[in-house]
Amino acid sequence: MTRIVLHNANLFDSESATLKPGATIVIENGIVDAVSFEPIEVGDAQVYDLDGRVVLPGLIDAHVHVSSSVADFFKLSLMPQSLITAKSKDILEQMLARGFTTVRDAGGADAGLVAAIEEGHFTGPRLFIAGRAITQTGGHGDTRPAFFSGQTCACCGAVGMLGHVADGVAEVRRAVREEIRNGATHIKVMAGGGISTPNDPIDGTQYSEEEMKAIVDEATAARTYVMAHAYSPDAIQRAVRCGVRSIEHGNLIDAATARLMAAHGTYLVPTLATYAAIAREGKRIGWSEAMLAKTGRVQNMGVSAMKMAYESGVKIGLGSDLLGEMQVLQHEELTLRETVMKPAEILRSATWVNAEMMNQSGRLGVIAQGAHADLIVVKGNPLDGLAILAEPQNLLAIMKSGAFHTNRLTRSTPNVRA
Ligand code: ZN
Ligand code: ZN
Repeated sequence: MTRIVLHNANLFDSESATLKPGATIVIENGIVDAVSFEPIEVGDAQVYDLDGRVVLPGLIDAHVHVSSSVADFFKLSLMPQSLITAKSKDILEQMLARGFTTVRDAGGADAGLVAAIEEGHFTGPRLFIAGRAITQTGGHGDTRPAFFSGQTCACCGAVGMLGHVADGVAEVRRAVREEIRNGATHIKVMAGGGISTPNDPIDGTQYSEEEMKAIVDEATAARTYVMAHAYSPDAIQRAVRCGVRSIEHGNLIDAATARLMAAHGTYLVPTLATYAAIAREGKRIGWSEAMLAKTGRVQNMGVSAMKMAYESGVKIGLGSDLLGEMQVLQHEELTLRETVMKPAEILRSATWVNAEMMNQSGRLGVIAQGAHADLIVVKGNPLDGLAILAEPQNLLAIMKSGAFHTNRLTRSTPNVRA
């Protein structure tokens, strides 16, 4: 593979959340070969003089549903799998074009999509998958509408069906093992009520602690971890006590819960973008009054919950959780946080913290020797405001695994000493 050199870069150091000017980044075989602040010999590399432009590690969205091309889960479950896959292709391609070079799927995507990207059939971010989310009967991942008497089972409906219904310790152990067998890189559990399902109260808890501990136990045995969907203090505290690694949403967090999370080192992945989007689009796309009422309640509390957690020292990851056509609003997850955190800290969440949460420190979310060469070159300074990242013309280059997805940079004369 060609050796690529990005010279005169203003490098975002994702660990310290600061810019380091005058960097030369050397990329070879898909990996960052060197980062230098001294002149280095570049040989016959492809050289780009960035003239002080900001270079960020490729962004990571730690909560996506790439197979949820419609926001109605039951409708989705009736869609042919070939069509779901075709629509996922578009969603993945658009995510990469927005500068997200890695995404963590929180339910729905399967190992076929991972392979389709790795084998080059689909263009998309690096994809980490949960497979189907583990859910109790009537839990947030049980997508059957009320009064529907059909059964979901573990053997049918892989892509697009978000839930893997399992009840009792023996069943949840088998469910986790089944998802791992099918290529899950992490496990997702529904630990409380949700907004996109009609009959589970948002502040309700789901699964007994005995079941949740068994889920964490099986994930740990497979050397991976559990992400838990939870809103209420009660649901979150139970998940934290059971050893879950990240709490997804967390909108109803109170001070005691934030302290408990900080003490356990549990990550919080707020998903502000999805509530803002549903509040605007929900009625039009056919969400019921009950579901919209649940949305309104958690939307108002999402920002203050994040603030409380952040100020209590909880590690804050970044995830958007957008569904269906609302996925185009992915960058809003960055800008909506600006009332609580500085842009540099938000970028740190989307890179360094997300990578750490996903057990990918040193490989992802950082531009350093030995890391995957996933990066974006930005026109303007995102540390002054993240809205510029939503304008496609400001993303001058997007690179994943050392290959340009987008490249609007001008080549320098070859063989210059960078
Ligand atoms: Zn959720
Ligand atoms: Zn989700």
